[in-house]
Amino acid sequence: MTRRTTAIVVGAGVAGATTALALRRDGLDVTLLDAWEPGHAAAASAGEHRILRSSHGTDELYTRLSREGRLGWLELGEQTGQELFVQCGAVMLAREGNTSWEDASRATLSRLGIPHFVAPAHELPVRLPVMDARGLAYGLWEPEAGFVYAKRATLAAIEQLRREGGTVRRGRVTTDRDEHPTLDGKRLTADVVVLAAGAWMSDLFPRTLRRMLDVVRQNVIMVAPPAGTTGYDHTDLPCWIDHGNHAYGIPAAGGHGFKAVLVWRQLSIDLERDDRIVDATSIARTRRYLSSRFPELADRPITQMAVGQIANTADTHFVIDRHPAHPHLTLVAGDSGHLFKHGPAIGRYVADVALERHATDERFRIKDRGSVSLADRPQ
Ligand SMILES: Cc1cc2nc3c(=O)[nH]c(=O)nc-3n(C[C@H](O)[C@H](O)[C@H](O)COP(=O)(O)OP(=O)(O)OC[C@H]3O[C@@H](n4cnc5c(N)ncnc54)[C@H](O)[C@@H]3O)c2cc1C
Repeated sequence: MTRRTTAIVVGAGVAGATTALALRRDGLDVTLLDAWEPGHAAAASAGEHRILRSSHGTDELYTRLSREGRLGWLELGEQTGQELFVQCGAVMLAREGNTSWEDASRATLSRLGIPHFVAPAHELPVRLPVMDARGLAYGLWEPEAGFVYAKRATLAAIEQLRREGGTVRRGRVTTDRDEHPTLDGKRLTADVVVLAAGAWMSDLFPRTLRRMLDVVRQNVIMVAPPAGTTGYDHTDLPCWIDHGNHAYGIPAAGGHGFKAVLVWRQLSIDLERDDRIVDATSIARTRRYLSSRFPELADRPITQMAVGQIANTADTHFVIDRHPAHPHLTLVAGDSGHLFKHGPAIGRYVADVALERHATDERFRIKDRGSVSLADRPQ
């Protein structure tokens, strides 16, 4: 195997930051580049928090990665002296008449020995008193799941990279006609070059990636729970994934209020031009959802809103592969709205692919995966 000593990683979101840290820990001289300030509001990793759960249907790879990611976040929290992961649990709400995804997740969790239990429908009003559990067959509970303070965790990985001798620089990378990445008119040269520019990868690699990716908007709304109550706090309520309603959320924590996200088809976003403002239709729709599942919150004031983006692939699998024409480049893209949780585990995985320690998994390859459609998908 060729000895590699230098690395450039483009994109200081969670994927780039954790990859840079993993490469640095392998002894490479690492530079992490971003066009903007790390943690800036338009980066997908800059949200306040992201759910970390292991339920992933029949898929063992993501289930394992999320568990490794969880340990990685706990370790990074220790190293940086910050609370990055909050173990409030997560409940997958299986709807009556269609429990196939939760059933499959349950079997996978059992196979891999990951703690979980089933709360039958009649227990849900007791366990989740603030939730209207009508139409639900059961709750699949992961007590060791929770959420990661996303922006804080991304910045912690970058801080740790600096502390361990990595370099963090500002610079907007572009690509030439042959899709070679360049900075200030010069090709990026290092033994290892990783491009992890989130949803911007579609424009950076128009020939290789654009056809595989659909970049869509994801609106987030946070509301203030009623004064004097604790039922919506992370101490009392787990994260929840309401697959049947294309919704998920995070209990109140860190002063951010109660977070609700609706995964909505057809919401496109122009990363260069669009203002990050949540539209009135999205607000009304989220309120309608709240009135059915969390009735007490339907008219509570909105305290915070955010607009993020997701780069979906047709099969919801990430892209982690070498550029077909330039094998020294490793590309990370197609987060499909579920990459954050894996954080440090994804960084390790990408670094190992870039260093040719192992080939990438078949599901992460650059290949024709059919047309992208926003089907029913958990985040
Ligand atoms: C609202 C919302 C909720 C989500 N919820 C969850 C969840 O609960 N659980 C979960 O696991 N995941 C969740 N996700 C998905 C998760 O946030 C993303 O998968 C993850 O943050 C993607 O990280 P990234 O590093 O690939 O991209 P980003 O964080 O977007 O980072 C890309 C970086 O590249 C930089 N960049 C771009 N272009 C250039 C250039 N030309 N030159 C240099 N730098 C450049 C950008 O400035 C940016 O900093 C959610 C996403 C959204 C939007």
